[in-house]
Amino acid sequence: PAPLVQVQDLKMHFPIYTGLFRRHTGDVKAVDGVSFQIQAGQTLGLVGESGCGKSTVGRTMLRLYEPTAGRVIIDGDDVASLPPEALRKKRPSMQMVFQDPQASLNPRMTLADIVSEPLHEHTDWTRAQKLERVYELMDQVGLNRRFVNRFPHEFSGGQRQRIGIARALALKPRFIVCDEPIAALDVSIQAQVVNLLEDLQEKLGLTYLFISHDLSMVRHLAQRVAVMYLGRIAELSPSTDLYSRPLHPYAEALLSAVNEPDPELALRRKRIILKGDVPSPANPPKGCNFCTRCPKVMDICKTVKPDLVEVEPGRMVACHLYTAAGSTGASEAPERK
Ligand code: SF4
Ligand code: MG
Repeated sequence: PAPLVQVQDLKMHFPIYTGLFRRHTGDVKAVDGVSFQIQAGQTLGLVGESGCGKSTVGRTMLRLYEPTAGRVIIDGDDVASLPPEALRKKRPSMQMVFQDPQASLNPRMTLADIVSEPLHEHTDWTRAQKLERVYELMDQVGLNRRFVNRFPHEFSGGQRQRIGIARALALKPRFIVCDEPIAALDVSIQAQVVNLLEDLQEKLGLTYLFISHDLSMVRHLAQRVAVMYLGRIAELSPSTDLYSRPLHPYAEALLSAVNEPDPELALRRKRIILKGDVPSPANPPKGCNFCTRCPKVMDICKTVKPDLVEVEPGRMVACHLYTAAGSTGASEAPERK
């Protein structure tokens, strides 16, 4: 079947204006050519260090930002190019769960108001119908119906995130961007919220883009995982393959810092410390965006940007080590374990 979500060469460049006359002097290339697909009912994990552009991917997909270029096909419509009215009609089917439930809930609104807000906007239901739906949603996310008229400050962090999830579900979306939905929560309740998201996915057939800097969290949640670096995807592989044998040098370094529960794998894994800092997304390196820090850098890497291509069945990697261009110009033989 065709994937529910198809992102093609998505770019989100934020203009930089400087000086007294606010001249446009450059662009922050927060997302600089990102492509992936998600099958219906599945989860794609999107991981990377803070500032790599992963949240911007999610926000741009849902048109919270106006994309600079690219296509975002969700359930047959190219969201990136929908005119305003069509976009408004599309909104119910694609929603977002935010990182900080405290900041994303209006403190002056009750739970009932918060969760039913999308219903006011997108349905012409009666008050009673909306309230009925609110109760139904509260049941789904595990909030006691007695809480319906309480305000956000009367809830715990975990409960507030349940409210955020209920609101996201109000209009029966098919696709949800979960942007670090548990990062702001106590460790003790993180697992509860993750389990809830998994249960809801199964019951409601939801498709997730799950954004996280926590690689061990994404491992069991996502069938496939995309590793982002400086606005681009370095590797996109099935979760099991990525975690047992990362192919891209950046993915390898990132994963080397993750606690490996499998003792056999842990023994084989050596910690890779990267030199230097992530370059500015306003001025990324010309060739491979990882070339300033890559332990395996070759001459070609400094001039030619590697495309994300399938190098093994189901595994996409953007690295010259795995392409003909890389092996002909390589100073050492490409490493293929
Ligand atoms: Fe390293 Fe070159 Fe591969 Fe980039 S293309 S990750 S610099 S080997
Ligand atoms: Mg973020």
